[in-house]
Amino acid sequence: MGKDVWAFAEVKEGKLKKTAFEMLSESRKLADNLGGEVAAVLLGSAVAGLAPELGRYGPDKIYLVEHPDLEIYNGQVYARVVGDLVRKNQPAVLLFGATAQGKDLSPLVAARLDTGIASDCTQFFIEDGALKARRPMYAGKAFADVVFQNAEPAILQARPNVLPIVENPREPEVIKVSIEPPADVGVRRVELQAAATDRPDLTEAEIIVSGGRGVKSAENFNIIEELADVLGATVGASRSAVDAGWRQQSDQVGQTGKTVTPNLYIACGISGSIQHLAGMASSKYIVAINKDPDAPIFQKADYGIVDDLFKVVPELTKALREMLKE
Ligand code: FAD
Repeated sequence: MGKDVWAFAEVKEGKLKKTAFEMLSESRKLADNLGGEVAAVLLGSAVAGLAPELGRYGPDKIYLVEHPDLEIYNGQVYARVVGDLVRKNQPAVLLFGATAQGKDLSPLVAARLDTGIASDCTQFFIEDGALKARRPMYAGKAFADVVFQNAEPAILQARPNVLPIVENPREPEVIKVSIEPPADVGVRRVELQAAATDRPDLTEAEIIVSGGRGVKSAENFNIIEELADVLGATVGASRSAVDAGWRQQSDQVGQTGKTVTPNLYIACGISGSIQHLAGMASSKYIVAINKDPDAPIFQKADYGIVDDLFKVVPELTKALREMLKE
């Protein structure tokens, strides 16, 4: 097994995403264990200015690939560029955040390199010299520890908001790599439509306020939105709320929706079915507001409020607005 660990530094709209710092911090930890070096892989159109920010989280090197064709993410192009870089430099491990982009790119890179991938992980460690990746299963009731056998580099994908960000300032060597992006990728961008909301995506949100059947109508989701606004949170929903047409499918959290890992998940009028828990049980803190004291969500919640959400949510919004104003 090689020793170097690489982190993919995801950029969105000219800025480094938080997941880039998470992956880099984790890479530093793994490389220190393996006795290897850490490199960040930075792709984009004019991204050289982002290198110093990456330097704060422990890279020895930054592979910087700039080209106008890399401005907008294209999985086929990015996978070729990253795949070629890896083939040439042979790191042992390559880490991606399990963001929309990371979930698309990492398997494409793994396929190009004909190697293994552990997706949606929450922990990595070295045991007896072997890298292990821990993946939650069955709604977080069990964990699988994945090992890589005869598969190098190991491609790892980590859930956002789970791995700690650790500052470890360095002055990394910036290695500029020039490329000729292939013309024959078979995928062409036709149009870019900005999301209707400026809230963070559910899968990357640090705070989520979610509503279920207990919210009772699309209009009533206003109180959920207001609480989310005060907290700078993203709004989620149970499948019942989505099936009822109160929220769009992209808001759904759960087995057939999104897997989320916020620091704070506030579940309002959600019973806590196994399928809903499958998507949110790994949240750091869970607050449940439900008028039924026997609702299963209370078994997972760190804090529970047994009361009518139409009373509690506006009161909470008001109190938090006052508190956060100061
Ligand atoms: P309910 O279970 O009806 O719960 C509503 C809750 O609101 C109750 O606990 C009630 O006490 C409370 N309540 C009512 N009024 C108030 C009030 N005024 N104040 C406070 N509390 C109140 N579900 C998902 O969420 N995500 C998925 O991805 C998903 N995938 C599925 C996949 C499969 C294959 C299947 C079979 C099901 C899936 N489901 C999924 C559905 C899941 O089984 C549940 O039906 C669903 O999660 C229930 O949603 P809910 O908690 O909003 O509704």
